[in-house]
Amino acid sequence: MNHRELFFRHLAQTSDEPLAWEISKAEGACLWDATGKSYLDLIGGISVCHVGHRHPRVLQAIAEQAEHYLHVMVYGELIQSPQVQYAELLARHLPASLQQVYFTNSGAEAIEGAMKLAKRYTGRPHIFCFHKSYHGSTQGALSLLGDEYWRQAYRPLLPGIFRFDYNENEVIEQINEQTACVVLETIQAEAGVVVPDTAWMQALADACKQNGALLILDEVQCGFGRNGTLWAFEQFGVVPDILVLGKALGGGLPLGAFIASAEIMQVLTHYPVLGHITTFGGHPLCCAAGKAAMEVLLEERLWEQVYEKEKLFHHHLQSLPGCKIRSRGMMIAIEFESAEINKQIIRRCWEKGVFTDWYLFAPHCMRIVPPLIISYEQIQQACEVIRDSVR
Ligand code: PLP
Repeated sequence: MNHRELFFRHLAQTSDEPLAWEISKAEGACLWDATGKSYLDLIGGISVCHVGHRHPRVLQAIAEQAEHYLHVMVYGELIQSPQVQYAELLARHLPASLQQVYFTNSGAEAIEGAMKLAKRYTGRPHIFCFHKSYHGSTQGALSLLGDEYWRQAYRPLLPGIFRFDYNENEVIEQINEQTACVVLETIQAEAGVVVPDTAWMQALADACKQNGALLILDEVQCGFGRNGTLWAFEQFGVVPDILVLGKALGGGLPLGAFIASAEIMQVLTHYPVLGHITTFGGHPLCCAAGKAAMEVLLEERLWEQVYEKEKLFHHHLQSLPGCKIRSRGMMIAIEFESAEINKQIIRRCWEKGVFTDWYLFAPHCMRIVPPLIISYEQIQQACEVIRDSVR
């Protein structure tokens, strides 16, 4: 079975698959299946549950909001306070140029909004993106996807998309007066954790500025402290024109956002051209949950423990035969010789009570993106299982 087929195991589960994989409960960094067996969760809902599953503050915020209302229309003069309060909290912890927040239902929708915003603001047709990048599965986000295999079945995709190698200079030379924006993950996740060179990132940001193109950083997977700073872009000395968030943004409920300056964002409000509209984006329950989770993250400064935890993973796993580790904070890839070996080890880990997976464009790499609150003891236990499974 090759890695392409492996991916579809999620879709193709049939009655001969054991029911044991049905998750019935989650708390902190642990999951339980329908048979009562517990697992350490090294996936965290795919980089979602950074403060742990079902954090009491998140549950309380959801319950309190549900006492008031679930959904109201917020166009025109109407606003809903969970959205406003969460936008204000985000803005207080972002650079002064990133102050206007547009909430969506998901990361992919936020990418769609960001691309539209860049086209509308610059009036330009071209979008630059990167090989091995992942930005979501909607038609526009899919058009950016950095792997021909996953794109090909859905042609025709968006026109005007140009794709480059991440961390290489060609993109910098090609940006011109036709380029609306350059879209990239600040740290590439699905590529198997690829960290950009700081000088390259800065040169890219400069080239965007000089040519009037917008820099869009996708921190759907790497934002909220996962890589050791609250926002990953802080590590590279750049500030995006548009920041895209998702996953951990909702504290376990579905929420995305694109964030820009007031000057850029205001083009979406110019009538009669339709800006960006969503019925449920920024849902009150999701904003209440996300804000509570972010408050926990900020109060506990969870990103400050991330490098120590990363070191512990390295300490336990670096001597494993036949594999290499790539990581930045709590985004870790353990690279094995082949996707098949990786799959077998992952399966054994599941059997031994550790839940892990692989990266979409690096199926030979084990994915480790646990909740940031995972304890040192839990890391040690998880590493023992991984070591055992490799043996
Ligand atoms: N961008 C990145 C970097 C992602 O990893 C993902 C999802 O995995 C997305 C965007 C899309 O987010 P969603 O699945 O919420 O649409």
